Formats: sequence, structure tokens, C-alpha cells
Amino acid sequence: AAKAAGRACYQVFETRMHEQLLDRLDQETRLREAVHRGELRLHLQPVVEIATRQLRGVEALVRWEDPEHGLQQPGAFIPLAEETGLITEIDRWMLTEACRAVQEWRESSPETAPKWVSVNLSAANLEVPDLTDRVAYSLSSTGLPPECLVLELTETVLMRDIAVTSERLDELRELGVRIAIDDFGTGYSSLGYLRDIPVDVLKVDRSFITGIVGNERQQELVSAVLQLGTTLGLKVVVEGVETEEQADLLVEMGDRFAQGYHLGRPEPVASLRARLAADSIAVT
Ligand code: C2E
Ligand code: MG
Ligand code: MG
Ligand code: MG
Repeated sequence: AAKAAGRACYQVFETRMHEQLLDRLDQETRLREAVHRGELRLHLQPVVEIATRQLRGVEALVRWEDPEHGLQQPGAFIPLAEETGLITEIDRWMLTEACRAVQEWRESSPETAPKWVSVNLSAANLEVPDLTDRVAYSLSSTGLPPECLVLELTETVLMRDIAVTSERLDELRELGVRIAIDDFGTGYSSLGYLRDIPVDVLKVDRSFITGIVGNERQQELVSAVLQLGTTLGLKVVVEGVETEEQADLLVEMGDRFAQGYHLGRPEPVASLRARLAADSIAVT
């Protein structure tokens, strides 16, 4: 009897594993098809000059209009895309789409257009042998000037193999595009790599700004990061500004650029452009 029970138990377990595996394969297949079926969506979040609250740049953030489950945020599908290697296709699509949207904006309404667009690249992109060619092609086929494009990579990605990474980044920078370190302050404990890796922009992780109001130590920490950026000649963008108090503090601290729900949420290009045209958010 014990043997029979054990066997039944094993079968239940096996069936569940089987179901999970099928679910995963199903999601992977649907995600793979999403790119080709045109289900990915480009959203843009404003990066503002904090003192004037004027829009200066935008960050491209991907969404998936899943016909079965509705609009999906990156947290729901980027991990699977990274595990399966699909991410390089998603990033390639986003790169071209972001360049196209911003160039079209620059051509039709130069007075409201952002000065730059930044695009996120997952780790696997650095292993794509023709990454530089892909970036060059996105620029040439859309007409976006290279100086209007920023590529965002996280610290942990940049740290994987400093020699190889530096070489890839040098190639990209020779095109005229700029490199940003995303989520700065969360990934790596040594700052030495800032000397070895060619970067142009620091994006300070939002964990630095959460709880900054009324916390002097936290303010000193952020001031130190802002100073570090200035000393190294980097542009600094503080992420995750959610309140007016945080924004005011950053102005006092001498921060120049910021991004966050309080300053503008990610949204489709058309609605962002409509809000700018209606003057409900400031522009240059
Ligand atoms: P990230 O690059 O650090 O992007 C910022 C994330 O913080 C975005 O989440 C944005 O909506 C959110 N955010 C902005 N302001 C605030 C705020 O004030 N408070 C809070 N709590 N959050 C804020 P999202 O769009 O869900 O993207 C999450 C992450 O997914 C991104 O973090 C990025 O690492 C990744 N991701 C997004 N799009 C792409 C893409 O096209 N390719 C790749 N490889 N990764 C992407
Ligand atoms: Mg980013
Ligand atoms: Mg970030
Ligand atoms: Mg992040």
C-alpha cells in the first residue's frame, strides 16, 4: 500500500512539473511570437531638468500587449526573455522603435522634442558580435543623430569582463552614442571600475532617493554621489522622484536631471507628445 501511495504521490508531482513546464513553454512561445506579431509597445518616461521641470530626455521602456492577459510590465516578461535569449530581439526592436519615434518627433515638432532618448540593454547584448552594427543601423535607418542616443547598462553587466566590456563600449562610443550606468549604487561595491570603463551618464538608483526627506545621512550620501559624477565629468540623472519634497531637495543639492513618477510616468509616445503640446508639462 505504501508503495502504491508513493507511486501516486510521484505521479501528482510529475504531473505538476509537467504542467509548469508546459506553461513556461507556452509563455516562451507566446513571447517569441509577440515580437513578430507586433505586440511590443514603446513607452517613454520623461527625464527633466529638475530646477525648471522641463523635459530634456526620455527613457524607452518596453511593454507587452499580451492578447490573453493585457498590458504586461517588464517585470512580468523580461526575466523569461533574459533566460531564453529572446531579450536581444526585444532590445533590438526597442532600439529601432525608440530611435524612429524620437527622430519623427524631432522632425515634426523640434521645439518639444527631447534632446536624447535612452534605451536599456540587457547583459546578453554585449555578447552579440554585431551589436555596434545593429546600433549603427538603427541610427542610419531612422536618421537619429548618434549624440541623441544613450545606451543604459547596469553596473553588474559592465563588471562582467572589464576588458571585453571596455572594448565594446569604446566601439559604441566611436559611433557617437553615449553610455549610461543604470541603477548606479546597487550592483557593485567598488568604484574603481569608473576609472576603467568609459561611461558618460550615471543613473542613481531610486533606493537612494526613497526616504531622503528628513534624513540627513541619506542626503549626504546623495550629495556625495552627485559630487562624484561632477568630478568625473559625468551627467547625473537621479531616478525615482515621487514627491515634490524630494524634487525640491534635489534642486537644493545641486542635482541637474531627474526622473520619476512625480515628474512624469512612462506612457506611449502619442500621449506624451499630446500632453507637451497642450502645455500640461513644461518643455525647453
Ligand atoms: P530601469 O531601466 O531602471 O527603469 C526604471 C523603472 O522604474 C521603470 O520600470 C519605471 O517605470 C520605474 N519608475 C520610474 N519612476 C519611478 C518612480 O518614481 N517610482 C517607482 N517606484 N518606479 C519608477 P519598468 O518600466 O517597469 O521597467 C523595469 C525595468 O525593466 C527597467 O528598469 C529595466 O531594467 C527593464 N526594462 C524596461 N524596458 C526594457 C527594455 O526595453 N530592454 C531591457 N533589456 N530592459 C528593459
Ligand atoms: Mg533604465
Ligand atoms: Mg534604472
Ligand atoms: Mg532598474
